[in-house]
Amino acid sequence: ADLSDLAGFDALDESVRADPAAHRVLTGDRPTGPLHLGHYFGSLRNRVRLQRLGVEMFLVIPDYQVITDRDVADRLAEHTENLVLDYLATGIDADRATVFTHSAVPALNQLLLPFLSLVSVAELHRNPTVKDEIAHSSQAAVNGLMLTYPVHQAADILFCKADLVPVGKDQLPHLEVTRTVARRFNERYPHPDGTTVFPRPRALLDAAPLLLGTDGGKMSKSRGNSIPLAADEDTTARLLKGAKTDTDRRITYDPAGRPEVSNLVLLAALCQDRTPEEVAEEIGDGGAAALKRTVTEAVNEHFRPIRARRAELAADRGHLRDVLRAGSERANAIADATLAEVREVMGSL
Ligand code: ATP
Ligand code: MG
Repeated sequence: ADLSDLAGFDALDESVRADPAAHRVLTGDRPTGPLHLGHYFGSLRNRVRLQRLGVEMFLVIPDYQVITDRDVADRLAEHTENLVLDYLATGIDADRATVFTHSAVPALNQLLLPFLSLVSVAELHRNPTVKDEIAHSSQAAVNGLMLTYPVHQAADILFCKADLVPVGKDQLPHLEVTRTVARRFNERYPHPDGTTVFPRPRALLDAAPLLLGTDGGKMSKSRGNSIPLAADEDTTARLLKGAKTDTDRRITYDPAGRPEVSNLVLLAALCQDRTPEEVAEEIGDGGAAALKRTVTEAVNEHFRPIRARRAELAADRGHLRDVLRAGSERANAIADATLAEVREVMGSL
């Protein structure tokens, strides 16, 4: 990835802060299970901050992406509704956001076709995140969609001309595909007036761009190692109790040398808005048990109001569907307009 194009929220350009209406955010989450702490500190928090700054927000729920690495699309509708619930509970303002499923916006798949012609098969094979996902896939054979979905993602991002994409670290190779597609499309199909059709979007990383799960690997919805945002306090305690640590009683913050312990220290620090060094210092020689008590308390405290709001919102499933219906309508209108522009620069009749 081109590091000059990565930014944290605090480092956000003056240009974004000065004129939020000139920017757009697009990001999303696969409907494969409940959102977890990695989502919150990796991307969700930044979405809410950007929306509060006044940047327009698009959230795609890429339901077709579910069948990249599993044989069945299990409980799609339920997972989709629950994602909307997590968004609203964490502070996304549904009246100002466009939340939609990939399958509800057919024009995205027409954008995909010219985009696919702009990348080589070798480039698709080289993608490190795709390689990792293939390694964790439940499928015996790698299907075609697994290889091409980073290009679908380019269509998901570029259709609304988003320029800011708050994501976790695993998404950086995919964002690079989007940037390549945008650049090559603009070069191959210039507007007669000299302007370009697509922006080159930037990834926006947050404080935990790769939060680890209880087994020490990337926290993931579908790897059985996550702490869901919506977990109750006892479940949170039980999951954290089972988290992998080490036997050194002195707690330190050393992400390279002690990744699992440092991950828990970081989690507590993020929940308490302190530095990881402060948290480690305070626990001192308390060992893994004291660390886990601290983290459990910090997580439960931080997420208490979010969990309470989520429980209230969960009573009205109709509202969640309404949010999606309105979002799909708006996404379709924008996608159709972009597709018309694409047809025009390509010289289609
Ligand atoms: P799955 O197991 O189905 O792939 P996931 O937990 O990896 O689920 P995704 O829907 O694939 O979640 O990712 C949604 C967004 O959350 C992406 O921007 C991704 O980079 C980010 N994200 C996912 N896991 C983490 C994590 N552990 N730390 C930080 N960000 C994460
Ligand atoms: Mg994933």
